[in-house]
Amino acid sequence: MDIRIGYGWDSHAFKAGVPLKIGGLAIEHPQGLAGHSDGDVLLHAITDALLGAVSAGDIGSFFPPGDPRWKDADSSIFLNLAMEEIQNAGYRVVNVDTTLVLDQPKIGPVAAEMRERVAELLGIVPSNVGIKAKTPEGLGADNVAQAHAVVLLERIEDPGELQTMSAVMQSQRELEDVVRDLVSQVHGVPVRAPFDTDDIT
Ligand code: MG
Repeated sequence: MDIRIGYGWDSHAFKAGVPLKIGGLAIEHPQGLAGHSDGDVLLHAITDALLGAVSAGDIGSFFPPGDPRWKDADSSIFLNLAMEEIQNAGYRVVNVDTTLVLDQPKIGPVAAEMRERVAELLGIVPSNVGIKAKTPEGLGADNVAQAHAVVLLERIEDPGELQTMSAVMQSQRELEDVVRDLVSQVHGVPVRAPFDTDDIT
């Protein structure tokens, strides 16, 4: 099959005193999104959409939230893993479309910057990234941020390109191993801690 589609959804509650991060972007706001990781609801939805497109499970199966290695983790680590999965399956991203559902803050003023950051993480141009936001009218979900994401993938035809992408992913993997070791040292836990099955990534 030459094309695949993937869909992802996530939600996180707002919490005072937590930095707000959406779409890989730090946003000035009195509340952030509670989570075991940095709570980046949009990157989690995109990560699930990528994994779903190649039937590779979901974010929780790769990064169980009870694992101390992912405490306050930058969610771009999750997205990079999903990118690796789709490349191993022989695909690349064509475009992604997303909808955020949240009351505050307004996304419009930061949408362009968010689009660029997401595009950078996915290795595509910003014109292939859709960032939309709606308020949760009638949902009774004013203190929650939700994200929906749809991705389209196409098969990588050129084996040379696949090799180049694999090499890039290999160097990213090595960098992540170094980061993981540092995080483990800081948190005083083994590098390969056993996973548990909580679910609040
Ligand atoms: Mg999440």
